[in-house]
Amino acid sequence: MKKRIKIAIPFVLVLVIILGILSLSIRPSYSGVDYSGANTESNTDKTIKFNSNGKLKILHITDTHLKLNHNFDPTIWLVEKACELENPDIVMLTGDIVTNSDNLEDTKKMINALMNIFEKRDIPVAVTFGNHDSEQGALSREELIDYYNTFSCSISVDEKGLSGTGTYNIPVYSSNSEKVKFNLWVFDSGDYDENGHYSCVRPDQIDWYNKTSDKLKEDNNGKVVNSFVFQHIIVGEIYDVLEKSSSKKPYAYKHLYNDNEYYRFDPEQINYGTIREFPCPGYENYGQFDAMVEKGDVLAMFTGHDHTNAFGVKYKGIDIVNSLSTRYIGLFHSTQCGYRVIEIDENDTSTYETRVERIFDIFDYETVKAEKQNGDEFKYKMAREFWVKGKVQKIATDVCRQITETLTHRQVSYAD
Ligand SMILES: [Zn+2]
Repeated sequence: MKKRIKIAIPFVLVLVIILGILSLSIRPSYSGVDYSGANTESNTDKTIKFNSNGKLKILHITDTHLKLNHNFDPTIWLVEKACELENPDIVMLTGDIVTNSDNLEDTKKMINALMNIFEKRDIPVAVTFGNHDSEQGALSREELIDYYNTFSCSISVDEKGLSGTGTYNIPVYSSNSEKVKFNLWVFDSGDYDENGHYSCVRPDQIDWYNKTSDKLKEDNNGKVVNSFVFQHIIVGEIYDVLEKSSSKKPYAYKHLYNDNEYYRFDPEQINYGTIREFPCPGYENYGQFDAMVEKGDVLAMFTGHDHTNAFGVKYKGIDIVNSLSTRYIGLFHSTQCGYRVIEIDENDTSTYETRVERIFDIFDYETVKAEKQNGDEFKYKMAREFWVKGKVQKIATDVCRQITETLTHRQVSYAD
């Protein structure tokens, strides 16, 4: 009998822990979600310029994968929280935003809920799509961008005649509005090619980039206008700058298209952040990256798509940077969920600062206490859940990383 009790103890303990964590996720729905359509009264300023401090603060949100009744409220709340904490000058949404439903009204409701977050705060938002946005559902890519544009905060453009939907550029004016000081490129990197592989930016989009880049330079007295790129799918050159190892090593990830190749940070390169899964570029490569190296106007390319990758590498003068998915996916998920902030100063547009905010790091005991005092049960329970799970998962992640670094004498993660 006694032996039986002894055997049962670990099982009971595990059960108690699982039930404890499950109970953290029981919460009411979020009353702050606004499903109503665009408010014709609101009118966000669509001209993007450096703010009164001479800075431009960009919030990069990506891969929210919004789906009604599938952690919808928590994801909406996370995006809202990011806006609240960061107060950005512009939001860049780089695809896989909403799961396009066969029910048109459902798709509209989801877009409304997301866009109302920005509309209410007068934050301009630039949208481009990923591989999933129009994979299914009632609306085509063209119809989707038109619907996003019913909101006055949307500054998205579909340059007609180009492959895909939502390839455009956003000139950023100086704080005194006198001249274009910076530029944001937005590319539709497509969805899938004819063989079902991931797609990439097409030749006609690259031609458009070359011409538009030349025009910007010409209008700037022959000087290059520095810029960032935002798109869903990372460029294939990422595998040129990571280090190849022929077999699986700790923190090395298999090449998406080559089974016998593994890749990890090359200590000889300039690296940032953490790789947690293999990068997924397009199968083909029509030379987008090379064109940008040649023009010399791109400081960094920011992508999403690979949800748990928050890393960057410098290659041929351009930072290839991936940002985390901003989606809440429930109980036991990676600490790699969050958003990226990018800041640039109009007095020196040759450099920039960026940081990654992991959702688990945002909440501490004080913020949980504050949410409790505010009296919204949903917000309080969300904050509490992130705080508790964050602590546990952060410790586990740090311990694994440190053990690996000690055993392999190799840095597996860098500062963001
Ligand atoms: Zn994707």
